[in-house]
Amino acid sequence: MKQRECDVVIVGAGFSGLYLLHRLRGLGFSVRVFEAGAGVGGTWYWNRYPGARCDVESMQYSYSFDEALQQEWDWSERFAGQPEILEYAEHVADRFDLRRDIEFDTTVKSARFDDMTGRWAIETETAKGGEALIAKFCIMATGCISTAQIPDLDGLSEYTGGTYHTGQWPHEGVDFTGQRIAVVGTGSSGIQAIPVLAAQADHVTVFQRTPNYSLPSQNGPMTEEYARQWKENYPALREEQRYTIKGSIRDLNDVPAYSVSAEERQAVYEKRWQIGGTGFLGAFNDLIVDREANETAAEFVRNKIRQTVRNPQIAELLAAKGYPIATKRICVDTGYFETYNRNNVALVDISETPIEKAVPQGLVHAGRTYEFDSIVFATGFDAMTGTLFRIDIKGREGRALRDKWRDGPRTYLGLMSEGFPNLFTITGPGSPSVLSNMMVSIEQHVDWVTDCLVDMRSKGREVIEPDLQAEDDWVEHVNVTAHKTLYPQSASWYMGANIPGKPRIFMPYIGGVGPYRKICDAVVADGYRGFRFEGDAAKEAAAD
Ligand code: FAD
Ligand code: NAP
Repeated sequence: MKQRECDVVIVGAGFSGLYLLHRLRGLGFSVRVFEAGAGVGGTWYWNRYPGARCDVESMQYSYSFDEALQQEWDWSERFAGQPEILEYAEHVADRFDLRRDIEFDTTVKSARFDDMTGRWAIETETAKGGEALIAKFCIMATGCISTAQIPDLDGLSEYTGGTYHTGQWPHEGVDFTGQRIAVVGTGSSGIQAIPVLAAQADHVTVFQRTPNYSLPSQNGPMTEEYARQWKENYPALREEQRYTIKGSIRDLNDVPAYSVSAEERQAVYEKRWQIGGTGFLGAFNDLIVDREANETAAEFVRNKIRQTVRNPQIAELLAAKGYPIATKRICVDTGYFETYNRNNVALVDISETPIEKAVPQGLVHAGRTYEFDSIVFATGFDAMTGTLFRIDIKGREGRALRDKWRDGPRTYLGLMSEGFPNLFTITGPGSPSVLSNMMVSIEQHVDWVTDCLVDMRSKGREVIEPDLQAEDDWVEHVNVTAHKTLYPQSASWYMGANIPGKPRIFMPYIGGVGPYRKICDAVVADGYRGFRFEGDAAKEAAAD
């Protein structure tokens, strides 16, 4: 294997990797990006299932780092669909000439820290072989929801029809016309895909393990006026976004649910329901901390389902119960519940009895065989840690990341883990990441990491690593903060509950995007409190 060297290796060319490359290259670092896919865009490259769409408004789910970019790009809808977001990622890659430093169809298999040299040895794999590369810094821009999860069903390899996962959708699309199809899973992906699949296929059978709360997007074409309002005020609005709790500007009603009458509460929910999107959850300020308050919102959504779905038994099966609304990732849909009024859609409740097995002609559940031409798995991802664990990451003294994180991820600020010097994670566990408008969280992490690398270079520092104590304190803080909310009460992928055997730990940081940013900034202002450095002491003293 030939060996090259560079300052920084970035793994992943989604929105994190693209912005990292742009910033670091502009600052004079030598950078290589490795991307398993054949193109840029990450999530929006892989998740091409019908109906895939963003549920953060387009004007907010976009980069803020370049004023000309945000002025020149026009979004066609309030909530952009996957093809348009992918087009945007491709535009960014072209506009900033990023592709020349990205190696596509290249999977990073291992990253090992050499204690002697203080460098990372990265090994890649391609169809033609692999390569080893040495880098001072390694940045995992590998995404939080990028490793698709297909259930380990007996007999699946003998099933003779087509199988698809929403997160690995064929680029050429799939024509389901005239087919009987199964959809397994009713999370955000399933809920988006089912209405579109039902309009195309002959028949759709949905296998539902847990019903989900879903809000209508009320999506529509972007109006010129709305886009202009944003574009004229982008700098101020972007700054405001950065200090919000969710990374999005939403109308938050800062009063508790029970501070108003029942009629008024209904009116508040109804208004937000009609506006559409996740703004519904901003109806009252105690919905994620007070179970009774939460129940008022949950029951409102259930009643909407009961009013929408004509068959009362199906409506009751679809109405989520037993866990608070928003504690599993809230879904946003276009005509999801209405779809169950179609003659060609059936719902199978698998909450008590799991799918037994696959057979050559379909799926067996509760003793009945269902025949399908295709099965669509909308069964989610091994989130937050799964993608990192698929890379053989070894830090100081050969310690494996998967061993260190055996009982749950351990990071300082979601940025680094003790024992893994010069290895950063963008939107890693322990940061707001998946609880936020991720564009805002991505930009914040990329800026923090690149500023750190520039600072180290100016001071002649070679190695950065968090202190164990700082990391332990942060892990504790992340955990305590989560348990002040209702989130840990549901079996969500935030808790690792969707993967058999995964530790049940609330992985993202729920303290909010703005407060978290302030913590990260204060750490820097305090001379990178909680981190230690190795390097050229003389140069450092001269720089200070
Ligand atoms: P990703 O986009 O996941 O990119 C990571 C890249 O790393 C991938 O291309 C992958 O191939 C590559 N990679 C991973 N491992 C390796 C390896 N070992 N070697 C080489 N390459 C590797 N967020 C929101 O804020 N709002 C939304 O509405 C929203 N909708 C979503 C809808 C779907 C269907 C999904 C799955 C996610 C959604 N997200 C949403 C989250 C979304 O993942 C982020 O918004 C954002 O796109 C993440 O960008 P990223 O670059 O950090 O990661
Ligand atoms: P998900 O939310 O994890 O949903 C997976 C679904 O599959 C759940 O209904 C789950 O049931 C079910 N499931 C998993 N394993 C199963 C099994 N063995 N048997 C039967 N059912 C099984 O995954 P997702 O829908 O792909 O969404 C993942 C995340 O991506 C979202 O939470 C969101 O962050 C993001 N996303 C966002 C959008 C958007 O609107 N912008 C769209 C798609 C995805 P249980 O609930 O019982 O586990």
